[in-house]
Amino acid sequence: MTTETSYEAYCVKCKEKRDMKNAHVEQLENGRKAAKGECPVCGTKLTRFLPSDAKQGGEKKDKQQDSDKQESKKK
Ligand SMILES: [Zn+2]
Repeated sequence: MTTETSYEAYCVKCKEKRDMKNAHVEQLENGRKAAKGECPVCGTKLTRFLPSDAKQGGEKKDKQQDSDKQESKKK
């Protein structure tokens, strides 16, 4: 089974949106994900940052907010 996902990204050379060639998703060090590939027309490298709502392993943000309130005395 081949899972070829296509990502659209804006090519600055073509000045148009292109479907990435050889697209693959990379996880960045800050936890975000980006799809990287090439423009099928001119070969320019394309990068598209993906929304971070597809996180693996839900983090408990609600509990962290409570401790943030106590720390927020920067004035
Ligand atoms: Zn292009």
